Amino acid sequence: MRQSSLVVVANRLPTDDSAAPDGACEWRRSPGGLASALHAILQQTPATWVGWAGGVGAAPTLTDIGSLRLRTMALSEQELRGYYEGFANSTLWPLYHDAVEQPVFHRGWWETYSEVNRRFAEAAAEVVEPGGVLWVQDYHLQLVPELLRRLRPDVLIGFFLHVPFPPPELFMQLPRRIELLRGMLGADLVGFQRPQAAHNFAQLAVKLLGARVTANDQITVDGRTVRTGAFPVSIDVAEMQALAARPDVRERAQQLRADLGRPRRVLLSVDRLDYTKGIEHRLTAYSELLHDGRVKVRDTVMVQVAVPSREQVENYRVLRDRIEGEVGRINGEYGRVGEPAIHYLNQPFDRAELAALYQTADVMVVTPLRDGMNLVAKEYVAARADASGALVLSEFTGCAAELEDAFLVNPHDVDGLKETLLRAMEADPADLARRMAAMRAHLSSHDIVTWARAYLTALDRTGRVAARLRR
Ligand code: UDP
Repeated sequence: MRQSSLVVVANRLPTDDSAAPDGACEWRRSPGGLASALHAILQQTPATWVGWAGGVGAAPTLTDIGSLRLRTMALSEQELRGYYEGFANSTLWPLYHDAVEQPVFHRGWWETYSEVNRRFAEAAAEVVEPGGVLWVQDYHLQLVPELLRRLRPDVLIGFFLHVPFPPPELFMQLPRRIELLRGMLGADLVGFQRPQAAHNFAQLAVKLLGARVTANDQITVDGRTVRTGAFPVSIDVAEMQALAARPDVRERAQQLRADLGRPRRVLLSVDRLDYTKGIEHRLTAYSELLHDGRVKVRDTVMVQVAVPSREQVENYRVLRDRIEGEVGRINGEYGRVGEPAIHYLNQPFDRAELAALYQTADVMVVTPLRDGMNLVAKEYVAARADASGALVLSEFTGCAAELEDAFLVNPHDVDGLKETLLRAMEADPADLARRMAAMRAHLSSHDIVTWARAYLTALDRTGRVAARLRR
């Protein structure tokens, strides 16, 4: 068994089992934040990634992607239901996002979640070098750090949660709250997007496990000290800037504007079709602006990309029907022949097309009810090389704390959302340029490599692992 000094453990591999015609594997970025975030770092750093390739049944053997080795995990049909669709995405996901949708507690799912976590831990333990570093990602694998500590006490174990970590009142609802907390506490360093999340975690460790906590949220429990910290994840700024500067992408942006009928203003939203993203609240606000006559269809066009997501989960199917019904109603009521009020696209786009869309958008509308970070908002800022464009951003995203010059909004307040959309649409270009320049300056010094370096340096204080990141 080949071993690596750096092993990433995440639910999904950054590829799938459909290899290229020559049999080689390619980095395929499923539309989601995690694979996008790690793409920039691991493409050039020798490492192994343990994860699931999608699909059920036996795990395919996948070839390396450059210097990245892939260790594929199999999931059975029943595991997919209980671990992935069930416990991870119907219990933890809604609960961690402020319970904006009711979390479902189902005892059978827990057994499957624990079993799958155990298998991931065993696979990871096999492929890490003596004294190496294991970096476990996200809510699907919360039990893995503790399991790994038992299997490989010689290695450094990091855990990073990409989604929000809820306040104690919500976390306390979880029937298996103690096991989940202990699972994460198996790590040497537990990283979150926001300081408040680290604080919530520390408070729970005190409440449920009688831990001792210092002012900076270091947790001592059962004679071991676990460090915590906030490490806001980011994007590959250079990649997005390079894409946005490509002549074909710029041409495509012009073409898109022409296809949209050269309106005075284009509003854009890009989300996975998920109830945390606030798509319905946004549609309500937009439809009321049309109804009130404050926005006119010929003048202003809205583009909503809603990428299919978790379609086997009942709630997501119901949500899709509701959103599509509402888009149909708005277009029926306010559209004209050849001029829909909303251009709705239920399909994934590649990065070049996204970069063109970002350049077409005068106003980017990012209004989740809760989001760990939201990389789309950061990508929009990175794509606006001429510092034009307005970002309307929910206060309930992780990135609101960093992008303070956005038009911040509470998406639950529909009147406030309408006013903010109008303010962004009618803002003075000089004000927009000032805001955008400030946000771009922040991003240029806080990109994805800064994030990985900060996390890995905090995990491995010798700086050995971080030094190997090539950029
Ligand atoms: N994305 C994509 N194609 C699409 C829509 C989105 O590749 O059609 C990418 C997008 O560029 C971003 C990620 O998916 O990097 C979404 O991350 P975000 O943090 O905004 O939300 P998440 O989906 O992780 O909740």
